[in-house]
Amino acid sequence: MTDRNDDLFAAARAVTPGGVNSPVRAYGSVGGTPRFLASASGARVTDAAGNVYVDLVASWGPALLGHAHPEVVSAVQDAATRGLSFGAPTEGEVELAALIAERVRFGEVRPVERVRLVSTGTEATMTAIRLARGATGRDLLVKFAGHYHGHSDGLLAQAGSGVATMALPGSAGVPAPIAAQTLVIGYNDPDALDTVFAEHGDRIAAVIVEASAANMGVVAPVPGFNKLIADTAHEHGALMILDEVLTGFRVHPAGFWGLQAAAGEDYLPDIITFGKVVGGGMPLAALGGRAEIMDLLAPLGPVYQAGTLSGNPLSVAAGLATLRLATTEVYETIDAASARLVAALGGALTEAGVVHSVAKAGNLFNASFRASAPRDYAEAQAQDSFRYAPFFHSMREQGVALPPSVFEAWFLTAAHGEEEMRLIEAALPAAARAAADAQA
Ligand SMILES: *Cc1c(COP(=O)(O)O)cnc(C)c1O
Repeated sequence: MTDRNDDLFAAARAVTPGGVNSPVRAYGSVGGTPRFLASASGARVTDAAGNVYVDLVASWGPALLGHAHPEVVSAVQDAATRGLSFGAPTEGEVELAALIAERVRFGEVRPVERVRLVSTGTEATMTAIRLARGATGRDLLVKFAGHYHGHSDGLLAQAGSGVATMALPGSAGVPAPIAAQTLVIGYNDPDALDTVFAEHGDRIAAVIVEASAANMGVVAPVPGFNKLIADTAHEHGALMILDEVLTGFRVHPAGFWGLQAAAGEDYLPDIITFGKVVGGGMPLAALGGRAEIMDLLAPLGPVYQAGTLSGNPLSVAAGLATLRLATTEVYETIDAASARLVAALGGALTEAGVVHSVAKAGNLFNASFRASAPRDYAEAQAQDSFRYAPFFHSMREQGVALPPSVFEAWFLTAAHGEEEMRLIEAALPAAARAAADAQA
């Protein structure tokens, strides 16, 4: 039986490659027709056929407060009446930069002294890398297998997210000499880090790392690993770029760095990238760091970066409203909901006899179909991933929208209340049985 989603998908494929504007949306790894969303409010999304789902995608993270939070929407509406884009500095940009710098702190430790606003996470990491190269006068970049930092040329080698789902080693169209500037090593592997610095230490500009990997499923850093990266990089005169595009302002008011600092792991990244939550659902991302590094950006310094829509007033209004509303209570609510779903998910899979592990990093979590939580990309891929499609579709038929790939974190919002939590919990047992019955 076809419905409006099928009609739209057919129409979309006629005018858009694969029918989507970002690959994982196409349901390639779970099969079936992607839901074309018509509206969203709080913890729920409504598709083009009028089906309503409890949403565990949250726009891949930004909807921290829930979809279409009234105060965020009215901040954007107010901004819109004053002009959509100026291509000139605004007061709101100053406030947002100051708020980001103020939030990312632990006591007196403040790794973000200057902030530059951009429009996407991809731009933030791309600029961070150019800045690290400009600051060190070196070319090589170290990244970890399975980590996703957006789709710029040098960063697709063994990336996670849609690249993990599609099992591509990288991407066509990236010149070999550019790919050769990126050294990919295993995550959570101190020896690999030692080795790469022993061999190339004086040519490495930076190590880029997801603060906690969440684009190959959730794979937390082993205790001390982020600090080891910072220390090793600094010993060799290289920088640490902490990619908090996904984790920043989602797992803690000060991001994953703040969560780790509060837990006693003290390390200082040189550049931190933000995205997703920081824009509150509008196109906005940022990079921040020490003044001495950030001031190398144009117009002060020799590292060029620019953007017609950078600091867009509507995006800034959404980001400001979101961060101002993202109080400690918001994080407590999401943390509690996360702990509850982790237990329910694990319980349902155990009950159905499915080999699994539920990985957690702050309030981020997801299930892998393997006996132990993966520690790196190779382990993340070594699972019965065929079990996810029937699990996903069972949840969907019961009114719960999960990320359409086993390699993605599940995202809660502060708007997931008792009713939504019960709906999700009620759907899990049948989905777990569908996963148990799945055939490779
Ligand atoms: C989403 C993401 C990006 C890319 O951000 P876009 O806004 O999609 O370009 C970069 N790094 C991480 C860790 C991400 O999760």
